[in-house]
Amino acid sequence: MKQLMWVLIFAFFSSVMSAAANECRWGQPPTIIFEAPHELHQYWTIDDAPIYGAPSVTDDFAFLEFRSEIAKRVPDLDPFSILQREYNDFIRSGDPVFVSEAALTRFVLEKKAGSIRPIHCLESLLLSVQLKRQSMIDQPSEFGAFLMRKGDAAQMQLRIYFSTWDKPGGKIDSKVWDRIERDLADGWILERHLHNHNFMFQDPVSVMGGVCPSRPDLRMYIDLVHAHGLQAASVTNGLSTIDLTVADILSLTTQ
Ligand SMILES: [Zn+2]
Repeated sequence: MKQLMWVLIFAFFSSVMSAAANECRWGQPPTIIFEAPHELHQYWTIDDAPIYGAPSVTDDFAFLEFRSEIAKRVPDLDPFSILQREYNDFIRSGDPVFVSEAALTRFVLEKKAGSIRPIHCLESLLLSVQLKRQSMIDQPSEFGAFLMRKGDAAQMQLRIYFSTWDKPGGKIDSKVWDRIERDLADGWILERHLHNHNFMFQDPVSVMGGVCPSRPDLRMYIDLVHAHGLQAASVTNGLSTIDLTVADILSLTTQ
């Protein structure tokens, strides 16, 4: 009898633990706008829920494996340690492009722009889509996402456009952008742009997961702020994410 009780207690706590672990997941599958070899563009429309902004991340195997591989290769994953190493490498390279980028890294290191926090649920779900396409340890690649919002306190909806070309860097696809413009005309707000920065183990200048936006990132943000009312931007490396307000974007641009 006592044994049975322990079995029941164990079963109860296992189910509670696995329910908690699985809480961070998509409520529904995405709608594919179009896909081609090494190209995918899709979106989700979901009810806003606190879980998406919560620090609990997906338990998707690809995501957990990616984080464990990064942890094996990078001894200190503190986001400011990563930025400091990146800054040192940029300066040491002597390459004018990297030296120019280093000014941005220093500004973030000095905490003059952006706020850095652990990756949250929605970001981990989006990164998982990319991670399932190819190993981002051997073949670093980027996704870009537009997070849109519509509604009021009673019912708020999120629409998330996800695009990837399975390689670092990206552009805004016109088929996706046509939809975003229609959404904007229909009352949706362009709340945030999100993309990922990689740990590029193959790169001669070790660009290793710094979450500081690059100058091309900033130019894209500025265009989106002026033309389409972009409210914020984020960059994640799979562990940490930087959030940038419009004021952060503007002050970084002057560096
Ligand atoms: Zn970037």
